[in-house]
Amino acid sequence: MSTQVSKDVCCPQCGKPVRTKLWTGISANTEPVLRQKVLDETLFDWQCPHCGYQAELVYPCLYHDKEKKFMVYLVPEGSKQALRKVEVDTRFPQLAGVRKRAVTSPMELKEKVLIFEAGLDDVGVELVKAGLAAIVEEKQNKTVEIGCFCFANQEKDRIGFLFFLEGEENPLKKATRFATYQEAMEISKQCGGELGDDFVRVDSQLAARLLEKYRRL
Ligand SMILES: [Zn+2]
Repeated sequence: MSTQVSKDVCCPQCGKPVRTKLWTGISANTEPVLRQKVLDETLFDWQCPHCGYQAELVYPCLYHDKEKKFMVYLVPEGSKQALRKVEVDTRFPQLAGVRKRAVTSPMELKEKVLIFEAGLDDVGVELVKAGLAAIVEEKQNKTVEIGCFCFANQEKDRIGFLFFLEGEENPLKKATRFATYQEAMEISKQCGGELGDDFVRVDSQLAARLLEKYRRL
């Protein structure tokens, strides 16, 4: 079941309070419409009914896919709400063994959904992304600010990513073969270790730590 709360949000443009419904918990299986909104990047769209001001309103939100056994907890950076292990464990005692991830942006939430729905391991995907990002940076001579997984096609043997480079408005598309992912999974097995049962961040920083460990071996 999904959960919704109502809250007064003050419009940054006209200053009027707007009663706004926020989805604090999303069940992908019972509310496919919300899953689609996550993938369309429209779930956090907000508009003021008084002056028409549009903004992205990001708030803590727990995404749960029971069938595919994963949960993603979006907690925007600077949010007062921290990940409270005890509370989550009591609320979801049946969730041991479910993959639990913490992210800080709607884009990362979407990326996790795409990765897990494609049946991939996100540590492996982060390692592939780190490798491709390094190639892109060297070729373009620019820093990759954000990289994200966008598709996996077994038939065509392609795993695709988007890379946002500094100073560039449009992202660069880059794809690689599944063999690269398999190699990444080997590195993950050798250097990864257990992620534990908390909501963990699996991101470029984790990939960098694993690759550093791998180089030392
Ligand atoms: Zn307004």
